[in-house]
Amino acid sequence: MAEEIKETQAPAAENTAAPAARGERPARGFGGKKRFESRRKVCKVCAEKMDNVDYKNFQFVKSFTMESGKILSRRITGTCAKHQRQITKAIKRDRNLAILPYSLPKK
Ligand SMILES: [Zn+2]
Repeated sequence: MAEEIKETQAPAAENTAAPAARGERPARGFGGKKRFESRRKVCKVCAEKMDNVDYKNFQFVKSFTMESGKILSRRITGTCAKHQRQITKAIKRDRNLAILPYSLPKK
């Protein structure tokens, strides 16, 4: 019984001391710890209000590829389905025109 009381008291004392010790970080919802940063991804094409993705705008299209030349997935970039389709087409067109690489060797 005595040990149980000690255990319940000790964390409470830590909790009061913890925010002051952390200093700059304010307490968050889940016991002060935030497991992941949830940030809403926005489609770049929609955000810039382009109606179509043009293969001639290769600098923009290139931003949707990895360094190795792979096409980045929708999950990573956050583009909408419609624009992802247009981007993949544009990248593939650019590859065929030798504007973008099919692949680059790893360093
Ligand atoms: Zn979009």
